[in-house]
Amino acid sequence: MLLVEDDASIAQTVRLSLSNAGLQVTHVGTGTDAILAAQTTSFDVILMDLGLPDMDGLDASRIIRETSSTPIIIVSARGDELDRVLGLELGADDYVVKPFSQRELLARIRAVTRRNGESHSDAEPVRDARVVVDERTHTARLDGDEISLTAKEFDLLAFLCAEPGVVFRRNDILEHVWDTNWYGTTKTLDAHIASIRKKLGSPDWIQAVRGVGFKFVEVTK
Ligand code: CA
Repeated sequence: MLLVEDDASIAQTVRLSLSNAGLQVTHVGTGTDAILAAQTTSFDVILMDLGLPDMDGLDASRIIRETSSTPIIIVSARGDELDRVLGLELGADDYVVKPFSQRELLARIRAVTRRNGESHSDAEPVRDARVVVDERTHTARLDGDEISLTAKEFDLLAFLCAEPGVVFRRNDILEHVWDTNWYGTTKTLDAHIASIRKKLGSPDWIQAVRGVGFKFVEVTK
């Protein structure tokens, strides 16, 4: 991955924790170097600080996006919603606000790289699970039997069950599965969750975490 961060101490901390998680990290400190690096090397993900010494991280992201589809996660100390929307409209894939935890950052990196992998249709289904979602054939199976899902139900189940046990926030689910609608589609989400639970034969597969969101849980027979 490419880490774009001008603050040396933050860069070192992030680099260390990502390296510990098994990621190979290339670090640059300016927007110019980031653009150059993105043009010459193929990264799985770019972590882009907003406040860079030579240009705004959003501008750097927009320039990179012109020639590259590499997922970009914007890192900012400015946490308001307007910045967030602006960042995503400019082609960024996700957003973290400083200070962020290593766990949050890793979860977001995994989420964007997974989505990127899915769009290339090379995601291998997990075979030893009871619920198997195959992006390539767009089928979901429970204990080998195909489950009849609507397109959105499929996307939602695929998103949640890609990381069993991980709690996804409502907004993140809406953003990733519905691509839009920052506000207001919570009822739609609940209806889809209810329908998937019914089709899986148990509410235990998708558990609500009060005040946060939902997690997929592998239910044993
Ligand atoms: Ca900075």
